[in-house]
Amino acid sequence: MLHVLFLHTYMKEKVLVVGQGLTGSVLALQLRERGHQVWIVDEDREYTSSKVAAGLFNPLVVGRLKITWNAEELFAHFNDFYTKIEKILDTSFFHPMPLLHLCKDIEEQNDWDVLAGTDKTAKWAEPYFGAIPSYIHSTFGCFLVKKTGWVDLLLFLGKFKNLMISESRYIVDSPMIGKDITSENDGFLYRNMKFDRVFLCRGEFEREQPDFAHLPYNPVKGQLFNIETDFDLEPTIFHKQVFMLPTGKRTAIVGSTYTWNKMDYEVESKDTEFLKERLDDFLLGNYKITQVKAGVRPAFHYGRPMFAEHKEIKELYVLNGMGSKGVTLAPYFAEQLLNSIYGRN
Ligand SMILES: Cc1cc2nc3c(=O)[nH]c(=O)nc-3n(C[C@H](O)[C@H](O)[C@H](O)COP(=O)(O)OP(=O)(O)OC[C@H]3O[C@@H](n4cnc5c(N)ncnc54)[C@H](O)[C@@H]3O)c2cc1C
Repeated sequence: MLHVLFLHTYMKEKVLVVGQGLTGSVLALQLRERGHQVWIVDEDREYTSSKVAAGLFNPLVVGRLKITWNAEELFAHFNDFYTKIEKILDTSFFHPMPLLHLCKDIEEQNDWDVLAGTDKTAKWAEPYFGAIPSYIHSTFGCFLVKKTGWVDLLLFLGKFKNLMISESRYIVDSPMIGKDITSENDGFLYRNMKFDRVFLCRGEFEREQPDFAHLPYNPVKGQLFNIETDFDLEPTIFHKQVFMLPTGKRTAIVGSTYTWNKMDYEVESKDTEFLKERLDDFLLGNYKITQVKAGVRPAFHYGRPMFAEHKEIKELYVLNGMGSKGVTLAPYFAEQLLNSIYGRN
């Protein structure tokens, strides 16, 4: 028995990851790190959550003045992960950057003072008395949130896709389980290739498929826009009801909205207005909106990601529900899933 377990743990497998958004990419990279042979299939949708997302990471739920779930462990984890992947992909997409939260009124300032004064939260946020750029209007207190920044997701996912294409392990397709990917006695057959396991990382599109239709999906639509300014921006993220994240000397992303009534990728003018109004409340100086994007965050009613093995088809898994914090949650949950299958790396 011990001998069998040992083999199972260390045998290198041939696996298929369906979906190359943030979740599928992170999982595929971790599988490669463990020495498995990984193929990716993605239907190459023009709009996906990862293609829309700002890529911000932040240990606080700023709107609700809470430390994010499991912040200690998550933030110890993903830094190393992205830094390692930058080396593998030979590119720089991981950008730690300070975030300054601007309080909207005196009540909020008091709440933040209390939050930053507790032992538990002092390591994540502190009052900020330093200089603020002249293009920022701030009336009430300002707080520095620590360990923040952003991941350039388009660059990261584009580079990884190119790597997989260069290894002839990237397939553009939308295979159905049971029809195109068939379960054999000891694995799966797809396009005349045998796979030991299949991982479904199809984001919110998983809802369209029958395989894990029973999961408690609760997707969240979001909108953001890109701006170009007439003046230079400092490498600091500002937050006051909405965030402004500089992506270049004169470019930034402004977001995001959260809505539950219409799950599509259509831009809503009322959401653009909502963001613009809040941005104009703290950004002084001219800017123009260059692109508006909307997307759907894959999420569950529990508010946490989930992984599971199919109840009838052995070795078919789903990893999904990264919500609004995919950048921090995907590396952690991908590792938990792989630990549960193969043991700790
Ligand atoms: C407006 C907005 C702002 C956001 N901002 C942030 C942020 O600042 N920070 C943060 O951490 N998170 C943010 N998010 C959330 C983040 O985008 C998600 O948590 C994450 O991108 C989800 O990745 P995913 O791979 O699970 O899903 P997706 O990115 O949707 O990827 C799913 C992939 O599966 C493929 N696919 C789907 N169906 C099939 C099929 N049948 N066959 C083959 N392939 C298929 C798709 O083509 C796609 O590539 C934001 C989301 C939105 C909408």
